[in-house]
Amino acid sequence: TFKAILISRDEDKNQTVEVTSLSEADLMEGDVTVAVEATTVNYKDGLAITGKAPVVRRWPLVPGIDFAGTVLSSDHPDWRKGDKVILNGWGVGEVHYGAYAGRARVSGDWLVPLPDGISTHDAMAVGTAGYTAMLCVMALERHGVLPQRGPVVVTGAAGGVGSVAVSIMSGLGYHVVASTGRSAEAAYLHELGAAEVIEREELSGPARPLGKERWAGGIDSVGSHTLANVLSMTAYGGAVAACGLAGGMDLPASVAPFILRGVSLLGVDSVMAPKELRIEAWRRIASDLDLGKLSALSRTIGFDDITEAARDIVEGRIRGRVVVDM
Ligand code: NAP
Repeated sequence: TFKAILISRDEDKNQTVEVTSLSEADLMEGDVTVAVEATTVNYKDGLAITGKAPVVRRWPLVPGIDFAGTVLSSDHPDWRKGDKVILNGWGVGEVHYGAYAGRARVSGDWLVPLPDGISTHDAMAVGTAGYTAMLCVMALERHGVLPQRGPVVVTGAAGGVGSVAVSIMSGLGYHVVASTGRSAEAAYLHELGAAEVIEREELSGPARPLGKERWAGGIDSVGSHTLANVLSMTAYGGAVAACGLAGGMDLPASVAPFILRGVSLLGVDSVMAPKELRIEAWRRIASDLDLGKLSALSRTIGFDDITEAARDIVEGRIRGRVVVDM
């Protein structure tokens, strides 16, 4: 048997979260069984455990949307016992038993190989938040937003997606403007490579149709007024990758940036992203993310600390990334 977190719901839809013990027979269907070595607490895991948003869509459920570990057994042609693998998304931790257990059984189609040069712990210091940040960087690059085009803005900069985005982009030579609501984290953001740190309030009020052109593009994990302001301040021909809703799911914007400045809004989803894109993102993470910065932006907790970290992340109290050592 192994320890697991289980989310259940009673007839009145009241949610309970307990630590229990499961055996392999309790796991859901799949053709690969993995010993989970490391996992993380993402914003979505916080929403699932606190029940603040309808992330969980099957009960009972083991939450946890990502893990890294070693294959224990496989009936899938791509994987053998002993392979090191990473899983992000695909509904794991939402509709399929997830990472917060000693073992996970999943479809082999969902797994990607752990890239050379990084450990399972490193992979989860990056986690789904960091892999999504890389997907955003790749989307901006495809659109031609390269370092020579000018500054880029990262919103929610002290969070998980934000911290990894700042680290990767500064490493690639971008002039990174980091927006945060936690001015006490300015030194931390400069350490990750931010060239400028601005106050969240500069971007959180109602947006004008067009503002001063301040950046060539950006990565937004906040949504709502923040994304509207980022768009209104994006220079002619630029692009913004949107991946999050930490500030709200709405988008109170105008079409002015699109039709008068040719600005593009690039949507980024990590959950159902195709396998080739995932493999490329993880390859780029292994090559472009400084492991020194990765340790500066992450801290390690134990299995028993997961529920507390879940509460902290939805309240915006987590800096960077949290790795759970199993
Ligand atoms: P996180 O660590 O909690 O980071 C979110 C950051 O947003 C916070 O640290 C905070 O940064 C800022 N923030 C929080 N509440 C805010 C508010 N009310 N107004 C303005 N800023 C606020 O979470 P994460 O794991 O990085 O995830 C960030 C977002 O991306 C979440 O919405 C998550 O669901 C989404 N996401 C999406 C995908 C995808 O596939 N599209 C994948 C991963 C994550 P500061 O303290 O620096 O201001």
